[in-house]
Amino acid sequence: MSESRLSDHFSVPVCNFVAGTWRDAVSGARFVKRAPATGEVLTEVAHSAAADVDAAVAAARAQFDGGDWARLSGAARGRLLYALADLLERDADHFVRLLAVEQGRPLMEMRMLDLPMSIDVLRYFAGWADKLEGRQIPTGGFMGRPTLNYTTREPVGVAALIVPWNAPLMIGLWKLAPALAAGCAVVLKPSEDAPCALSALMDRVAEAGFPPGVVNLVNGMGETGAALVAHPGVDKVSFTGSTAVGRLIACEAAPRFKRLTLELGGKAPQILCADADLAVAIPGVAMGLFVNQGQTCAAGTRVLVHRACYDEVVAALAAAAKAITLGDPLEADTRMGALINAKQRDRVQALIESGLTEGACRVAGDEVVPEKGFFLRPTVFAGGTPEMRLMREEIFGPVGLVVPFDSDEEAVRLANDTPFGLSASLWTRDLARAHTLAARLRFGAVAINGWSPLDARLPWGGFGDSGVGRDLSRCALEAYTEEKVVSLVL
Ligand code: NAD
Repeated sequence: MSESRLSDHFSVPVCNFVAGTWRDAVSGARFVKRAPATGEVLTEVAHSAAADVDAAVAAARAQFDGGDWARLSGAARGRLLYALADLLERDADHFVRLLAVEQGRPLMEMRMLDLPMSIDVLRYFAGWADKLEGRQIPTGGFMGRPTLNYTTREPVGVAALIVPWNAPLMIGLWKLAPALAAGCAVVLKPSEDAPCALSALMDRVAEAGFPPGVVNLVNGMGETGAALVAHPGVDKVSFTGSTAVGRLIACEAAPRFKRLTLELGGKAPQILCADADLAVAIPGVAMGLFVNQGQTCAAGTRVLVHRACYDEVVAALAAAAKAITLGDPLEADTRMGALINAKQRDRVQALIESGLTEGACRVAGDEVVPEKGFFLRPTVFAGGTPEMRLMREEIFGPVGLVVPFDSDEEAVRLANDTPFGLSASLWTRDLARAHTLAARLRFGAVAINGWSPLDARLPWGGFGDSGVGRDLSRCALEAYTEEKVVSLVL
């Protein structure tokens, strides 16, 4: 994809995709999306309201309630998903550049992480589409008569898929692929801060041959998402975003018992035991801190280090942070880009200030940043204590706090001392210690000697304030279905 074609992409506004056609918001309202790495206006985006949501839900309902989509076999749905994966692979270069510009995130991360996983997720769920089998369940019969009991898996209906900005295409597909494999029709609501790649995906959805109205996309702010959640035509909401908004959605969905998947915030610990192989652990911990400018739900901002290797780890992490090249996301040697917007940069800056005033020692991060754009240097604090804001709040920026511990018992206590429970990493050469600690950590995903090895086949989701339900894996597929039991009294 040449530079000019990329800028062509941003020269047209990002519209809604409803019933297979591109439309502006009914009101004609638009908002502005800025490029994180320059602060300049990148494009305009449809600012949708209830009328736009109504049209999108109506299109999805028409397909689900007896449209062409409802008549397709699982194998046919799978073929469409495989076709979409092939188109994404064909246009991978365009998508990595688009994502890098809209997110301000290095091209290399898109090439190595988000794009391959997006394609893999589509193929993984494509393979499931014709394998939604029921069960035959023996019982003791009913009132002296034998029974034949079997279950079927039916699609839950119209699903609202609400997506954050930190990995818009990948997380969008974590939801879209299983929903379509299960036979749902959907309305996607991208984040106002990252609407471009998902909008580009809609062209490929049409090209792959999905019937118009099966996949709809409505752009807008939080109130657009809220209108979608409240809409009576929506049967299921799958949301990834902040814990605060997840709570609002759970309340809104409760009166109608809408099915819910909530993937919310995190506050991951990274535990380095005294016997950790530091040559492997340091780059892994640094990745957990700094990938995507620290804007990941799995960001391992609480670095818990055994006192025996504490000084060595602090020095090595500071050196790793200082070595990171900050700059233009499209440059091949850039290893860290910009935060998503000025508000997010200022929020993280305020948390850095809190570390300084609460007595932590900044060992990396006070170097200058480019004047334009929303940059922050990767920052490491030593001397953390459990009460500090940096230990308690989700940071969502390139900042880590290193905290010493003296025993496995203390490490587990510090790690579990959070309302979040999404993911944790631990580093040790001792297998027995690794599995003993993993069993005691109250997190949905525990990685041993690596940071967050996400895969389409592995369930992803949290304990506690990190949400309800799981994305990815067979769990995600089943979350877009209802299991029905049929009993024949013989
Ligand atoms: P956010 O909650 O501000 O917004 C997420 C989406 O919800 C956006 O599309 C937004 O427009 C929409 N929204 C806002 N208010 C709404 C409402 N009242 N009703 C319905 N929709 C509404 O989150 P964000 O800032 O985009 O993303 C960052 C957050 O996402 C972080 O907390 C991060 O940890 C979390 N996250 C979690 C995971 C996970 O898998 N658990 C993955 C990525 C990000």
